[in-house]
Amino acid sequence: AWGLSDRVKNIAPSPTLSIDAKTKQMIADGVDVVNLSVGEPDFGTPDVACSAGKVAIDEQFTKYTAVPGIVELRKKIAAFLKDHAGLDYTADDILVSSGAKHSLYNAFMALCNPGDEVILPAPYWVSYPEMIRLAQAEPVVIQTDESTGFKITPEQLERAVTPKTKVLLLNSPSNPTGAVYTKAELQALAEVIKKHQFYVISDEIYDQLVYDVEQVSIASFGEELKQRTLLINGFSKAYSMTGWRVGYMAGERSLIKAMTSFQSHTTANPASISQRAALAALDHRDETMVPEFRWRRDYVLERIRKMPHLTCDTPSGAFYVFPNCSATYGKSYREHAIKDSDDFASLLLEQAKIALVPGSSFSAPNNFRISYATSRENLAKAMDRLEAFLNEVK
Ligand code: PLP
Repeated sequence: AWGLSDRVKNIAPSPTLSIDAKTKQMIADGVDVVNLSVGEPDFGTPDVACSAGKVAIDEQFTKYTAVPGIVELRKKIAAFLKDHAGLDYTADDILVSSGAKHSLYNAFMALCNPGDEVILPAPYWVSYPEMIRLAQAEPVVIQTDESTGFKITPEQLERAVTPKTKVLLLNSPSNPTGAVYTKAELQALAEVIKKHQFYVISDEIYDQLVYDVEQVSIASFGEELKQRTLLINGFSKAYSMTGWRVGYMAGERSLIKAMTSFQSHTTANPASISQRAALAALDHRDETMVPEFRWRRDYVLERIRKMPHLTCDTPSGAFYVFPNCSATYGKSYREHAIKDSDDFASLLLEQAKIALVPGSSFSAPNNFRISYATSRENLAKAMDRLEAFLNEVK
């Protein structure tokens, strides 16, 4: 019979990418939109990485590589994880994939059987629930808000556990909230995980983008936890390499081996050229990035906190702020009623020419996401527009 599979029919398109597409269309039509919706750094890829990519092409390093990635890269990733997180992995415990998104997909596909439950703290990154469903598992959402700094508590985790629980998804620092779990908070969650025995997929892609707090991995709470954790990271954010598509997973060797087989039949190795670039990038982070992001975060927070109708927690990581706009619900902007975060975001785009992402996309109906991965000039322009807009919300 004709028709798409149920699997594909049930997938929602990525809302962040569709807002980006609408924004780009408006910009192409000549509308002066400030885009605060994107999830990639406005910094360039480090020169050394670009050069290494060019050299790879010139040397004809353009053929299949080992499926889990070249051993030099896996060794260097292992050394990085030792230096930055104190974690002991070897090259055999690492699987390099075509972006962290790909690593996450491998992880869900490898761990979940139909009907398994994956505990998913909200607000969450848009791709998690879709990936969980693609793996025929069920997302079990734990809703959080400002009252716990957008973090789950051990009590909430305990309540969400059932005999079908297979995995907890953790994402610290978080997209979209910027929340970062402290060591003590992770320790408390670790106790629940050990008690009930399930896996953790720990998406640490923003690990290097933290401001005045310590980044801790859940894998660092002893051997038992490390065995159960699939640590996900990549090169897109900290090295501004979104288009190169290199991500990786570190975990227990037998799991990595199984996922390498899975990857061997789906995509095989990540691009050879990108692997060389990633290898060069690991030692050459742009040290100006974190101070610049911190400055922008502080600037946006200071501006927002002076605006009517908004409140905003201080995010400790990533490059997002996540203000609460629920005080505008039930009010109007020049006759246009605002009833939810979708109205708020569409009015901002159409009337104030600012693109940002409504919280509804992340299961956070009272908030919206600002990405400050854009120039200071753009941020100033956007904050002026946002303030002018809010002054007219009555
Ligand atoms: N995980 C989170 C939380 C993200 O925000 C993103 C990118 O937006 C990714 C994973 C995927 O990154 P990559 O470009 O490595 O696939």
